[in-house]
Amino acid sequence: MTVQTRQMVDSFCEMVRIDSESGREQEFIQYLQKLMERELGASSVIDAFGNLVCRVPARGSTAAPLLLAAHADTVSPGIGVEPVIQDGVIRSRGETILGADDKAGIAEIIAAVKASTRVPPLEIVVVRCEEIGLKGAKNLDYSLIKATRGVLMDSDVLDKVVIGGPSHYLIDVEVTGRSAHAGMEPEKGVSAIRAAALAFQWFPEGRVDPETTANVGIFRGGAIRNGIPERASLRAECRSLDHQKAERLRERIEKAFREAAANVGARADVSTELACRTYRLSEDAPMVQAAMEAIRACQLEAKTSVITGGTDASVYNENGIETVVLGIGARDEHSVDESVAIEDMEKAAEILVALLERCAYRGRSGGGQSEASGSGRTHGPGEKRTGAPVQGTE
Ligand SMILES: [Zn+2]
Repeated sequence: MTVQTRQMVDSFCEMVRIDSESGREQEFIQYLQKLMERELGASSVIDAFGNLVCRVPARGSTAAPLLLAAHADTVSPGIGVEPVIQDGVIRSRGETILGADDKAGIAEIIAAVKASTRVPPLEIVVVRCEEIGLKGAKNLDYSLIKATRGVLMDSDVLDKVVIGGPSHYLIDVEVTGRSAHAGMEPEKGVSAIRAAALAFQWFPEGRVDPETTANVGIFRGGAIRNGIPERASLRAECRSLDHQKAERLRERIEKAFREAAANVGARADVSTELACRTYRLSEDAPMVQAAMEAIRACQLEAKTSVITGGTDASVYNENGIETVVLGIGARDEHSVDESVAIEDMEKAAEILVALLERCAYRGRSGGGQSEASGSGRTHGPGEKRTGAPVQGTE
C-alpha cells in the first residue's frame, strides 16, 4: 500500500485550522487523540503535562518498540490559520504562520503508519510547548515510554538525517546601579547601562568558532533621558556543539557582567539555564543507518548533519532514546511565508514508510534479525532529565 496523499493533505489542512500556539494546545491534543484512535487503532494517554502518548501495536514484527515524535504547538501568529493550496504548495493566507512546523510532521506520521504493512510496536508522542524551550519533551512522563530508539519528525529538508545538536545556555542579566538627576547631581548616580556596556568587550559575540556562537538578543535599560539609569536588563545566549566550550563561554559572559558592574559600583545578577545539552549519534548507530537507507530507498542522496538549533531529539537522546531527526518538507518556518509542498509531504511520508519497514525487521542491535520487544530502557524515568525550569529556547 502506498501513502494516501489526498487524505494526508486534507488531514493536514484540518489540523492547521485548529489553533495551538505554545501553551494553548489542549484542544488540538484532544483532537489528535481521537484521530489517532480512529485512524490508527491506537490506545492513548495524556500525561500530567498534557503531552499525548499513543501506542500502536506491531504489525508483522517482533522488533523492539519505536518512538515516533512530533510537537503540537506552533509559534505566533498562529491563531485563525486558513490554509491555501496553490500549484501544489500549501501556505497560509498571509497573516499567520502555516503551522507545517510541526503539523506536517504529524500528518506524515499518521499517513506513513496507515500505509505501512509492517511496523514495530509504535509509541507516537506529540508534545506541547516545544517552541518555548522543549518543555513538553522535558516534562514527558518517561515511565510511559519503552522505546530506546526513535524518529523525530521536525527538521526541514528530506535528504538529511540530523544526528547532533548543541549545548544551549540561556543567560539573563539584571544590572542595578543608582539613579540620580543627570544635570543636577550626576556624581551621585551609577549608570546601569554603562556598567552593562562595559562588559561587552570581555566576551566574544556572533560566531565564536565553527561550532560555537554567542548573542545578546535583548538589551533594555533606563527610563528617562535626564536621569542616570538605575536598571538595565539583558537576554543573552550561547551555544556550542562542544559542551565544555558552551560551559566556558557561559562562565565568561557571567563573569564579564559581574566584574564590569562591580568596577563601576553597580551590581549584576546573572541567572543561567541549560536549555539543552549537546548530543551526537555515531554515523554507525542503527537508527542513523536505518534512516539513511530509508532516504536512499526513496531515490534521494542521504547525508547526516549536525545542527546548532535545539530540537526535542536532544531531550530524547538524553533520556536514553536514540533519536534521529528527519525532514518534514516545511520551508520558511516561524514566518508568515511558511509553506510546504504536497510533493515533499508525500516524499517525507514515503521515507518514513521505508524506515518503519526497516525498524520492523530489526531491533536495537541492527542486522537482519528480529528482536523481542521491550528491550529495556537504559535510564529510569526522569533520571537524566535536566530538571531545571525552562524558558524560551527558540
Ligand atoms: Zn518544530
